[in-house]
Amino acid sequence: MANAPVRVRFCPSPTGNPHVGLVRTALFNWAYARHTGGTMVFRIEDTDAARDSEESYEQLLDSLRWLGLDWDEGPEVGGPHPPYRQSQRMDIYKDVAGKLLAAGHAYHCYCTALELESRRDAARAAGRPSGYDGKCRTLTAEQRAAYEAEGRESIVRFRMPDEPIVFTDLVRGELTFTPDNVPDYGIVRANGAPLYTLVNPVDDALMEITHVLRGEDLLSSTPRQIALYKALIELGVAKEIPAFGHLPYVMGEGNKKLSKRDPQASLNVYRERGFLPEGLLNYLSLLGWSFSADQDVFTIPEMIAKFDVADVNANPARFDLKKAEAINADHIRMLDVKAFTEACEPWLTAPHANWAPERFDRAKWEAIAPHAQTRLTVLSDITANVDFLFLDEPVEDEASWAKAMKGEPAALLTTAREKLDAADWSSPESLKEAVLAAGEAHGLKLGKAQAPVRVAVTGRTVGLPLFESLEILGREKTLARIDAALAKLAA
Ligand code: GLU
Ligand code: ZN
Repeated sequence: MANAPVRVRFCPSPTGNPHVGLVRTALFNWAYARHTGGTMVFRIEDTDAARDSEESYEQLLDSLRWLGLDWDEGPEVGGPHPPYRQSQRMDIYKDVAGKLLAAGHAYHCYCTALELESRRDAARAAGRPSGYDGKCRTLTAEQRAAYEAEGRESIVRFRMPDEPIVFTDLVRGELTFTPDNVPDYGIVRANGAPLYTLVNPVDDALMEITHVLRGEDLLSSTPRQIALYKALIELGVAKEIPAFGHLPYVMGEGNKKLSKRDPQASLNVYRERGFLPEGLLNYLSLLGWSFSADQDVFTIPEMIAKFDVADVNANPARFDLKKAEAINADHIRMLDVKAFTEACEPWLTAPHANWAPERFDRAKWEAIAPHAQTRLTVLSDITANVDFLFLDEPVEDEASWAKAMKGEPAALLTTAREKLDAADWSSPESLKEAVLAAGEAHGLKLGKAQAPVRVAVTGRTVGLPLFESLEILGREKTLARIDAALAKLAA
């Protein structure tokens, strides 16, 4: 399909929560569509009623929207090949399965699970290929009738051609699969339910997909799908075989494949922690691709401009949480202050463990936000940095208290209180002078003098620039908190 406009698809099954591997697949398809001016098709593969859920379907849509990965055809937006949920396309699959049977590309297989298993064991023991042995390939009408009279059920099996399947993977180059490795396979269950093996390529054909970009775990289904495609072309159902590109595995802790169940893999975890969509996508794009030798941080439009499947690397990619966080921190810094201020608000106004949402004070938040922006790795970090502004009293953190209240903290705090009381509260410099002078009076450098003040006022040993923080909190509250700390020291 060298010159046809690119049509890619993202076709998840709605099971469980979206995970980062899935997002990487969606991203590469989407970036390729946007890079080439092609079409992104979003299809829901919900043919497994036992595992699929409506909740998971809603989450998929919501996740793609949050990430900004929009689709040109699919649920809610429609398109020329509806419906885009496989559960609503059963008639199509039934029709195609019928055509494949009629043309001899598929046949009924009556083998029971037990029979298949014992023949598989025997083949293994004899060192022969252990896939389906083709027993039902050439059943006569009488043999079939006899099986049916016995009450046997049958599945529909696709008849693989006897020659090797060769194709050029966009990521891995030329690959050859010999018939021994790709036996005939089931496409319709005994109860009439069509399987992934059928519905996925049928829909790719009908939706005129030109490029199938998906995870390496699906590589073994590609020779089967190519053979099926050839049959579909013969039947006039498909036009051309798409190009295939298999994206590398993503490895997690201990160099093991990142599994869906791994907590590091859940998209919701990143969302709840306050990754920016563009930060997360930037990081995920590096799992198998690179922007340039010396640049890891870039915007999504920059990625789109450069992205080509031909540049995807076949080697397994390692998921590195620290790197993901560092890239996200860079994206937080790249926001303009207003966007940053707004992006944090959901964390500040959510019902909170230590303050009620109505205590949120927008003016104070807007004053402190520029000081916070350079310090966050993820947006959820914001609450610990600014909670002192919204709480009546600073958080109680005994470890911070013990660390800062060393030497003679009461003497230092008493002097600092006097100097702060007399300071000019219209600028942080004057507050700094006050604490500096208090430190000097007790033979302490600024860092040491500042620590008890910070803990008295914010409850924590680390935080945003102290004097800006004091100024925004205000004179009255600052002095009251120092008084409270002095009372606690005296108790
Ligand atoms: N529904 C399949 C999955 O989620 C799609 C695989 C494919 O891209 O062909 O694994
Ligand atoms: Zn059979």
